Amino acid sequence: MTTYDVIVVGAGNAALSAAMAARENGASVLILEKAAEDEKGGNSYFTAGGFRFCHTGIDDAATDVLTDLSDAERDQIILPNHDRNVFYDALMKVTHHQSDEDMAWRLIDGSRPAMVWLRQHGVRFLPMFGRQSFVVDGKHHFYGGVNIEAVGGGAGLVEMELAEVARMGCDIRYSTGATQLIQGQDRSVTGITVRGPGGYEELGAKAIVLACGGFESNPEMRVRYLGHGWDLARVRGTRHNMGDGIRMALDIGARPFGNWSGCHSVGWDISAPPYGDREVLDNFQKHSYPWGIMVNLRGERFVDEGEDLRNHTYVKFGREIMGQPFRTAIQIFDQKTIPVLRDEYRIKQVTKYTAGSIEELAAELEIDPTALKSTIDDFNAACPSDARQSGQYNPAILDGVTTSGLEIDKTNWALPIDEPPFEAYVTTTGVTFTFGGLKIDDTGAVQDLSDRSIPGLYAAGELVGGLFVENYPGGSGLMAGTVFGKLAGESAAAFAETA
Ligand SMILES: Cc1cc2nc3c(=O)[nH]c(=O)nc-3n(C[C@H](O)[C@H](O)[C@H](O)COP(=O)(O)OP(=O)(O)OC[C@H]3O[C@@H](n4cnc5c(N)ncnc54)[C@H](O)[C@@H]3O)c2cc1C
Repeated sequence: MTTYDVIVVGAGNAALSAAMAARENGASVLILEKAAEDEKGGNSYFTAGGFRFCHTGIDDAATDVLTDLSDAERDQIILPNHDRNVFYDALMKVTHHQSDEDMAWRLIDGSRPAMVWLRQHGVRFLPMFGRQSFVVDGKHHFYGGVNIEAVGGGAGLVEMELAEVARMGCDIRYSTGATQLIQGQDRSVTGITVRGPGGYEELGAKAIVLACGGFESNPEMRVRYLGHGWDLARVRGTRHNMGDGIRMALDIGARPFGNWSGCHSVGWDISAPPYGDREVLDNFQKHSYPWGIMVNLRGERFVDEGEDLRNHTYVKFGREIMGQPFRTAIQIFDQKTIPVLRDEYRIKQVTKYTAGSIEELAAELEIDPTALKSTIDDFNAACPSDARQSGQYNPAILDGVTTSGLEIDKTNWALPIDEPPFEAYVTTTGVTFTFGGLKIDDTGAVQDLSDRSIPGLYAAGELVGGLFVENYPGGSGLMAGTVFGKLAGESAAAFAETA
């Protein structure tokens, strides 16, 4: 039986971070990836590559993370303080203080060192100019806390990390999925059964890091844990995250932990394919709803589109769409805001309708024109009349420009929808990743049903539960993958040394 010090299961961001850390700490490392090489990178590949981490502004972030910025570029950037308290508040606000306190601080306080560590391992970063900033008086004003992305987005991130693990001497096997953990009489994990192109095989390992994603790609598990209808949702990323790592660990007595009925999901173009598209990537998402209104197929608004910055509402609204007739939501904009819609609205694979009047738009959309007209008339009448002229309207902040008197008010950025031609974009729910998973301790070791570590078994990434509950602040998924992947890799290497 081939034996490695550490076997890492999966080859997304969490796994590659674990592999780098284990190798850096002297372990021989094998990475197992169920997908073929042309589908590499897991969900991490489909991301924008956006990371949320602690910094106090552009001068601080430029010292050791944004090291490629010129002075001239730096002068053009206004990056708000995002220190540990801001990060904590963002996480606790969206999770309603249900995020595990210890894990939250480990993520927050580990975030900056992990970014610097990635940078030292050849991952390059730049500000997210396109999606997370507005130009005001010639300067890029960033907002929302996830402002830095890997060069080349998620695809670039995965390529840079794969190059680094190869350079460091880790082995990798594609088209080889782990199927079962092998455990000794003393409960230690001693190896893993895999299914590769040649069939089943047993591989020995002194320690194993599970980092093979959640169960978002598995319709049977989605229904079982997320609930009725979730089997019909689209999947935004990889088709390979079938909950294998979670199942393998539960099979040997691991403790389920966190929000098993919760997931990250967003408004996603209704014509998108069942799983992610490696060309379109995350551009099926439609995240400019704060600049317009959202209605269901009855022509009724159903959320406060301006409740908060997009980074703090897009997940919650993804779930809200599931509750609407035929899991459908239509975003409507007029000429005042169409020019500022995000780039994802201008891809050719978009389900878009344009019309000169609301009644014509409703006819195009095959929804009741009277209902839609009445919703928009009521909305327009409830908007303040001069928010733009007075300068109060400001898309870069929570501007407090609110409707009043509606059953569901729009509490920021409330401009009337009255300048034709109007545009409508039809969306449904796209699942990103699931929140429930395994319980780890402060070394990344997987806990069993008696709250003891399973010797030699570590976990990181999406398949760890406890951090994200009901919602998630954008940019924390990759950051958690690196923080906890690095921790798991270091601990696995240390364990292997003593095993
Ligand atoms: C469209 C989209 C956009 C996103 N944008 C962002 C963003 O900008 N910022 C952010 O922080 N987060 C973002 N996310 C969330 C982010 O993708 C995840 O939080 C993160 O990538 C999870 O990393 P991971 O390594 O745990 O999982 P993955 O990257 O999914 O890696 C898991 C890997 O395990 C493999 N695998 C599965 N089963 C097995 C098995 N049995 N054996 C071996 N291998 C197996 C899979 O093939 C996969 O390659 C986005 C997600 C999507 C889908």
